[in-house]
Amino acid sequence: MVTALHRPTLVLNRNWQPVNVAPVARALVLVWNDSARIVDPADYQLYDWSDWSALRPAQGEAFIQAIKQRLRVPEVIVLSEYDRLPSAAVSFSRRNIFKRDRYTCQYCGGQPGCEELSIDHVVPRSQGGQSTWENCVLACLPCNKRKADRTPEQAGLKLRSRPVRPRWTPMYARESVRVASWSKFISEAYWNAELEK
Ligand SMILES: [Zn+2]
Repeated sequence: MVTALHRPTLVLNRNWQPVNVAPVARALVLVWNDSARIVDPADYQLYDWSDWSALRPAQGEAFIQAIKQRLRVPEVIVLSEYDRLPSAAVSFSRRNIFKRDRYTCQYCGGQPGCEELSIDHVVPRSQGGQSTWENCVLACLPCNKRKADRTPEQAGLKLRSRPVRPRWTPMYARESVRVASWSKFISEAYWNAELEK
C-alpha cells in the first residue's frame, strides 16, 4: 500500500521552476527545517510548518496521521534556501547512467538489453579516468571488449555524443506520478523557459 507519506510532492526552486519530485515525508522535513514552504496550488498561498499544521484535512481528503493530529498532504513545495534539492537531484548511479544513455551502446548504437550492456570509462581508470557523468557511458559487450583499456581514439571508436550530467527531472515528467495540480507549475516553467531564449 502506498501511504500518504510516500505520495509525490512537486519541488520548485526559488524561481518556481520544478526541479524534482520528493516523497511527502521528505517534503515535510524540508518544510519543518524551514528550507521550503508549502504552496497551495489553488491560490499560490505559501505555508510554513506552523501555518500548515494548523490546517485540518477536509472530509474525504488524504491526510497524514501525526502523533496528535491529522496533517493535510502537501502537493507542491517551493524551496526557500536552495535552487536544487540539497542532495544532487540526479544521483550518479548505475541505474541513472542506463537511463541517461537510453539503454543504448554509446559507440555502436546497439540496444542489446540490460544484461549485454556495461558501464565503460571513456578514459580508462588505468589512464587516470574518473567515475563521473562526463567519463562514463554505456557500452555493449563487444564494443567494451574491443575498446579494452584504451581511449576511444586509441581503439578507433567514436562516441555518439559527449557524455554529460543529465539535467532531466526524473519523475515529474512521468505521467504516472503526476498530480493534477502540478500542471500549473510545470506549464509555467515551460513558458518561462521559452521566454528566456
Ligand atoms: Zn556497441
